Amino acid sequence: MTRIFYDEDATLSVLNNLTIGILGYGNQGRAWAMNLRDSGLNVIVGNIKDEYWDRALSDGFYVYDISDATRQSDIICILIPDEVQRIVYYSDIEPNIKTGCMIVFAHGFSIRYGLIIPRNDIDVGLLAPRMIGVGVRRLYELGYGAPAFVAIRQDVTGAAWSRILALAKALGFTRAGVIESSFEEETELDLFTEQAVMPVIISAFLRAYEILVSKGYSVEAVLTELIASGELIEVFRQVCKLGLLGQLILHSKTSQYGQLSRIDRYIDKIYEPMVKSLEEIISGTFSKEWIKEQEMSYPKFRELLEKALSSRIEKDSENIRRKLKIPYDIL
Ligand code: NDP
Repeated sequence: MTRIFYDEDATLSVLNNLTIGILGYGNQGRAWAMNLRDSGLNVIVGNIKDEYWDRALSDGFYVYDISDATRQSDIICILIPDEVQRIVYYSDIEPNIKTGCMIVFAHGFSIRYGLIIPRNDIDVGLLAPRMIGVGVRRLYELGYGAPAFVAIRQDVTGAAWSRILALAKALGFTRAGVIESSFEEETELDLFTEQAVMPVIISAFLRAYEILVSKGYSVEAVLTELIASGELIEVFRQVCKLGLLGQLILHSKTSQYGQLSRIDRYIDKIYEPMVKSLEEIISGTFSKEWIKEQEMSYPKFRELLEKALSSRIEKDSENIRRKLKIPYDIL
């Protein structure tokens, strides 16, 4: 039975007198630093000297370069991009970690693919929120929390579990529930969602836009129908609350019948590509491809991103967003 940890399973005081170093003040780093500080912990930030450094300073944190921050910390949260972690880890982090300290990852990539093999005198844990950074912060401020996955890879001090659960509590994660997992499971599930589920969803919208506009439907009507209305936000909220199929009761009977009677037309077509993506993730084919991209300064990634962001659907979507006055933030 998978364990799920809540507030009552964690004791914040195990982190008393310890310094938590947040390395990387980006999406997750900023949210983590602020939540931990608001929970009363002693937090410092490590970053390279650029605008994120300035942002951390103006948010009121003591900021150091990564080596310095590591040296001063007992718990070191590695919140820098996955594909560069190994470089920063071996140059700035590992040489400065004191024996008995703990390193914590927010995603298992570097450990799962053997890109980082930690020294054997430190604790190693995973605390991976299932939420983007702004959501981690917003939920905490509202008195709730994001759910997360937790795993311990090395526990040389015997305190790794109590420390990572306390960290989870201070971040607000145990308010929602923290699910015991492993570096392997967390990484593979996360990459699968990104590489199999999201591409299916995005392709459905891209194809729908292309087909409908080419058949003469107006761009404004098509994009409002598919994306811009904000209806999807409400539907996906209900998916979370009532279930993927349970939320169907909120739609008209015509819609329910139309959806259920046509699913079979598509579902078999996505089986093979999904399994292929999973195999690439498990075998390490994807991780090798991504690390090679990083080593070559991201040529394919830059090209793909530029093409995506300059595509017609993006320009048309921006136009329609400007014409409709929809408060997406409060939907
Ligand atoms: P971001 O890209 O938002 O932030 C990365 C931070 O690392 C920035 O402060 C950045 O500084 C710094 N950084 C970038 N390159 C280097 C480098 N070469 N050397 C030192 N510092 C560097 O990362 P995320 O917050 O998105 O991701 C951090 C971790 O959290 C990852 O492991 C990710 O998988 C995980 N995660 C992310 C989620 C998300 O919602 N984004 C969700 C769950 C987990 P600067 O930009 O100033 O160079």
